Amino acid sequence: MMKIDILTLFPEMFAGPFSSSILKRAQASGLVEINLVNIRDFSTNRHHTVDDTPYGGGAGMVMAPEAIFGAVENVRTKHDSAPSRVVLMCPQGRPFSQAMALDLARGKNLVLICGHYEGVDERVRDSLVTDEISIGDYVLTGGELPSMVVVDAITRLIPGVLGESASVEEESFSAGLLEYPQYTRPRDYRGQAVPEVLLSGHHEEIRKWRRRQSLLRTLERRPELLAQMELTGKDKDILKEIMDELRRLNLS
Ligand code: SAH
Repeated sequence: MMKIDILTLFPEMFAGPFSSSILKRAQASGLVEINLVNIRDFSTNRHHTVDDTPYGGGAGMVMAPEAIFGAVENVRTKHDSAPSRVVLMCPQGRPFSQAMALDLARGKNLVLICGHYEGVDERVRDSLVTDEISIGDYVLTGGELPSMVVVDAITRLIPGVLGESASVEEESFSAGLLEYPQYTRPRDYRGQAVPEVLLSGHHEEIRKWRRRQSLLRTLERRPELLAQMELTGKDKDILKEIMDELRRLNLS
């Protein structure tokens, strides 16, 4: 079972996302254990403060090292021998990706540190943290929402959490391409019909159509992803066809 400890000053923020839908079910079936740890419980001073003004001056408060070190050391005593990844949520970290989610989902013990205010004392980064993750180039008020994003992306990759593991392999990013369009009933909705091929029951034709749609979508929306992936000879043929078609349309 995967164990995730989330260190935060605001554990109450996690109640909704972690007690609904797939994340709720994954915990109930023992596939993942999510443990919320209040950093304030590890404060060693009389007033239980966890932040202080920055050395050198400047606006805002910085989370002090003592309580964070105390909290990480405490959760580690409850881990088995498997190595613990200690991740700091941080706008300066590596941009989060599906590949990173897959990598983290393979581990056993994961500790996520949520910063708040102006961030955390640099010594936390220097000697506790193994990975720093950013969920995008914008600044949030705290690491709580980012860590929910990371936990959600990891949990759905743990074997057994989603019904069919095939859906994980096929979806956007896992194979380096964006996913093809999906349809469900009704067959005709407000004059818009489901593509005929999907109703044909012809599995090989459906597979080809989907691959072509994935390539087309990726080319239109995220061409840089195509440059990063290894394309098969067939994929290249399909892309050539698409490009030829586009050229014809442009000329006419
Ligand atoms: N002054 C810091 C930002 C602090 S934001 C700086 O300029 O780098 C406060 C906390 O919110 C951070 O410690 C981090 O834990 C979290 N956070 C904010 N934006 C984030 C993002 N894009 N990705 C991950 N964590 C983020």
